[in-house]
Amino acid sequence: MNSRELFYSNLAQTSPKPLALEIVKAEGIYLWDADGKKYIDLISGISVSNIGHRNPAIVTAIKEQVDKYLHLMVYGEYIQSPQVKLAKKISDLLPANLNSVYFVNSGSEAVEGALKLAKKYSNRTEIIAFKNAYHGSSHGALSVMGNERLKQPFRPLLPDVKFIEYNNIDRLKNINHKTACVIAETIQGEAGAIVPSQEFMTALREACNKNGALLILDEIQTGFARTGTMFAFEQFNIVPDIMTIAKGFAGSMPLGAFISSKEIMTTLASNPALGHITTFGGHPVSCAAALASIDVIESEKLISKIKSKETLFRKYLKHPKIKDIHGRGLLLALEFENFSFNKKVIDRCIANGLIADWFLFADNCFRIAPPLIITEDEIKNACEIILLAIE
Ligand code: PMP
Repeated sequence: MNSRELFYSNLAQTSPKPLALEIVKAEGIYLWDADGKKYIDLISGISVSNIGHRNPAIVTAIKEQVDKYLHLMVYGEYIQSPQVKLAKKISDLLPANLNSVYFVNSGSEAVEGALKLAKKYSNRTEIIAFKNAYHGSSHGALSVMGNERLKQPFRPLLPDVKFIEYNNIDRLKNINHKTACVIAETIQGEAGAIVPSQEFMTALREACNKNGALLILDEIQTGFARTGTMFAFEQFNIVPDIMTIAKGFAGSMPLGAFISSKEIMTTLASNPALGHITTFGGHPVSCAAALASIDVIESEKLISKIKSKETLFRKYLKHPKIKDIHGRGLLLALEFENFSFNKKVIDRCIANGLIADWFLFADNCFRIAPPLIITEDEIKNACEIILLAIE
């Protein structure tokens, strides 16, 4: 059997109609399929390959770590230099209260850890989440996902979760003295790249402060320069109590983390100990790759170039069929009339060598989230393919 036949016969499927492109090579912003066809990757494996596919710095860091050691022990027991260096680096990038890093495997696991931490620290159970939020696919993360259709078959989920409208200051009055935490994406990703107002973010922080509720900001999709700052919350002058990261963290290697203050994080270490344990969390090869990836973001000054790249997309992508462009930096959503039109544009783009996608909870929106290293010429080329597909 060839790879395509094996894909259908032995690999678990996530949908009745997978994209099923057979990719044999990836480099920078490009992918190549088994027939040698080249594609621009406009979605980065969903906001993962921020510094491009197979960035040479990542490949080198991985090789160097592989020559020393791979997995050694369940996270938290041994002193491993890639983990401790990375934890220090992340803390240095963040405000002073975010100085304790708990490494895990994925975004969903980071959300699990963050919710557990908030419940244990606060000794409260109520969680407030937002409509159209996406935080992952495990039971805890599903419990705070703001979309009933995807959750329904998996109920019962966590009790005591309330959903309120995102970006609506009035709804924040639901936060009260029983609230353990409020979990929010800093910019809602799967809702279609929805940027909240400054007033909403300020009011959210104030409502949490007033009620002693912890604020968890999910930066899994928005982190690592994607929206024009290292983390999106920096653009709103607020600081979370707990932050979750994954996706673009480790230069395309699997790694996540939840981050908080030493005081809050200590809660997980006793009464009982082992409040969260994870065998592969903080894998040394992933941590080495993450250190190299942050180094690339900094040394190539990627952050300073995001705004002008966003402006270019907005300049080129003018067409009567594009009703609006939401988002920030290189997390953008082109809004079309409906899913059927969007799907046709996406299919045409893929046929013409550009990988595109819609958003989970905004199927009329076309996702633009390329590797951040995309050049001005490549942006122009990508926009030409999109405009041609719309026509
Ligand atoms: N939070 C957000 C905001 C996400 O976009 C995602 C993934 N799309 C997750 C959490 C879950 O991450 P993972 O798929 O690594 O579990």
